[in-house]
Amino acid sequence: MSVSKERRPGPGTLGVHGTDPRPGPGAPVVSPVVQSATFYWSTPEDGELLYSRYGNNPNQLQVGRKIAALEGAEAAVALGSGMGATAMSLLSVLDAGDHVVASSRLYGATYQLLASELPRRGIETSFVDPDRGDWEAAFRTETKVVFVELPTNPTLRILDPRPIVALARERGLTVMCDATFASPVNFRALSVGIDVVIQSATKYLSGHSDVIAGAVSGTGPFIESVMRMSRLYGPALDPHTAWLLDRGLRTLDARMRRHNENAMRIARWLEAHSEVERAIYPGLPSHPDHELARELLDGFGGMVSVVLKGGGEAADRFMHRLQLAAAAPSLGGVETLVSQPRWTSHAGLTAEQREAQGIPDGFVRLSVGIENVEDLIADFDQALG
Ligand SMILES: *Cc1c(COP(=O)(O)O)cnc(C)c1O
Repeated sequence: MSVSKERRPGPGTLGVHGTDPRPGPGAPVVSPVVQSATFYWSTPEDGELLYSRYGNNPNQLQVGRKIAALEGAEAAVALGSGMGATAMSLLSVLDAGDHVVASSRLYGATYQLLASELPRRGIETSFVDPDRGDWEAAFRTETKVVFVELPTNPTLRILDPRPIVALARERGLTVMCDATFASPVNFRALSVGIDVVIQSATKYLSGHSDVIAGAVSGTGPFIESVMRMSRLYGPALDPHTAWLLDRGLRTLDARMRRHNENAMRIARWLEAHSEVERAIYPGLPSHPDHELARELLDGFGGMVSVVLKGGGEAADRFMHRLQLAAAAPSLGGVETLVSQPRWTSHAGLTAEQREAQGIPDGFVRLSVGIENVEDLIADFDQALG
C-alpha cells in the first residue's frame, strides 16, 4: 500500500489492506489459504517457514501483521482462541513465585485461570475491585503483571488504565489489557501506555460468530516469547481460520461503526421504555463512566445491558419472545445476540453475589448486531410488551 510516511492510515484502510507490500501483476488479490501443516525445509538457511504449530504459516503471519497494524503495535500473533492468547501472554512472563494484580471484573475463564489454575503453578493473583480497591496497596515485590479488562462484562464499566499504567511503570511491571469488548476500532490500548493488548478474535475481529480465535499485540520481543510459549502449549491458529479472521478484519471498521450506531439508538430507546428499570451503555450520560468513555474511546461499542422492571421472570419472557434477535451466548457478530448473565457467565454466583456486582435478576445483555435498527427496536418492543 502506498501511503506517505507521516500519515497513519485509518482502521478502515488497515483492515482492508494491512501494511504488506502489494504483490505484482498476476498475484491473487485475495491471498490463498495455505492449508499445509508443513513446508519444504532441509536446513536453517531455508528460512522460518517449516511447521504450522510454530505460528509461521503464511495465513497466521499475514493476519498477525494486520492486527498489529490495527492496534498500532510493533508485533502481534493470532492464536487458536482468546483464552489461548490470555494464557500464553501470562505464561510467557510469569514464573513460580511471581504475583499478578488483576481487576476483579474479568471474563469468567480469565478469572478462573488467575484464581484457581495459575496458583497450582505457584503464581498468585490479588484481585482489586476497580471501584473500591487500592491498586498500589495490592503490589508486592513479586508482582510482575497487572491485568485489566475494558469495557467489562456485563455492566460495561470503563476503568481508567492511565493511573495503573503510571504505577506499573515505576515498578517495571507489564500491563495487559483484554480489550475484546471495544476492539481496536473503539480503543487502542497501547496508545495509553498499556504494554500488551489481548483480543478474543472470536468476537468483533472476526465478526461473524463462525470462528474461535484470539490475538495478542505488543513489542516484538514480547510477541516472540508468546510464540515460543504457544509452540510448547500448542494453541496455534488453523490456516483456514486465520484466513476467515483476515476476511473479518476487512469489514471490522465498517461493522464497528454500525454496532456503535445501532447500540446507541437501542440504549436510548430502552432507557425511555416503561418496562425498563435501567439501560446500561457507556454512551448514555446516565452511565457512571460516561465521561471517561468519551475521553478514552472512539466509539461506545455494540454491547448494551438492560435491567427489566419485572425481574428474572420478565427477563426469561423477553428472551422467549424474541423473533429477530437470537437468544445465545457470545457477542461481537453481525447478528444481535441476547443473553442473561444469571444463566451464563454469572451462573456460578448466588443472586446476592450477582446483585452486589450490579447484576440483578432482571439483567439482560444485548450484543447489538448490524441489522437495521428499526427492525431490532420493533422486535424488542414486541418482546417487552
Ligand atoms: C470471549 C471472551 C474471551 C475468551 O475468548 P475465546 O475466544 O472464547 O477463548 C476473553 N475475554 C473476553 C472479554 C471475552 O468476551
